[in-house]
Amino acid sequence: MNYILMGPPGAGKGTQSKKIVEKFGIVHLSTGDMFREAKKSDEVISKLLASGQLVPDEIVVNMAKKRLEKDDVKKGFLLDGFPRTVNQAQELDKMLKSENMKIDAVFFIDVCFEEAVKRISGRRVCSCGASYHVDFIPPKVEGKCDGCNCELIQRNDDKENVVRDRLDVYEKQTRPLIDYYKSTGLLVNIDGLKSESEVFEDIKNAS
Ligand code: AMP
Repeated sequence: MNYILMGPPGAGKGTQSKKIVEKFGIVHLSTGDMFREAKKSDEVISKLLASGQLVPDEIVVNMAKKRLEKDDVKKGFLLDGFPRTVNQAQELDKMLKSENMKIDAVFFIDVCFEEAVKRISGRRVCSCGASYHVDFIPPKVEGKCDGCNCELIQRNDDKENVVRDRLDVYEKQTRPLIDYYKSTGLLVNIDGLKSESEVFEDIKNAS
C-alpha cells in the first residue's frame, strides 16, 4: 500500500509514521528527515530549515523522484511531509504515473494552531532519535535522555517564533492540498486531538 500522511507541524506525523510503517511493513519517506541530513553540508538548506520556510519545489521534487525510483519502495511507502504544495502534488502524480504506481489513501491529521504551538515548542530531542515533551512526555531526569543519558536539545525550528512561521507557511502553502486530495476521493480526515493510540486506531480503520 502507498500512503501520504499530511497535517500541520505538531499533528504527530512523526509518531504515527513510525507506527504505520511498522504495522504495514512499508518504507518511511520523510523529506524533513532528508533535509535535516542535507543541511549538515548545505548552508542554503540549513537557513531555510532554521527559518521554517519551505525548500523550493524543484529541489524537493528531484529528491523525491530519486528516492521513489529505488527498489525498496515497491513493497509500499508512506510519504511524510511530501507533497507540501499543490505543485509538488501534481509533480508526484506525474512521477507515480510514469512508474505505474498509485496512492491508496491520504491521511490528514488535523490539530488547531494553539495546540500545535504547545506541542512543538515543548519538544526536546536526543541525537539517538528519542523524542520528549517537557510537559507531556518528560524524561526521568530533566534535560537528559532516558535511554543514553545524553543532553536533550530543542531543534532550532521548534523554537516558538519559528513554529508560528512554520504554521503560517503551512496555512498558506500546504492547506490548499486538502481540497486537492478531497477532489480525488483519497482524503481521510483524522482528529489529531485524540490520544496517540486512538489516532493510530482511526488510521488503521481507514486503511
Ligand atoms: P518536517 O520535519 O516535515 O516538518 O520538515 C522540516 C523542514 O524541511 C520544513 O520546515 C521545510 O523547510 C523542509 N521540508 C520538508 N519537506 C518539504 C517539502 N515537501 N517541501 C518543501 N520543504 C520541505
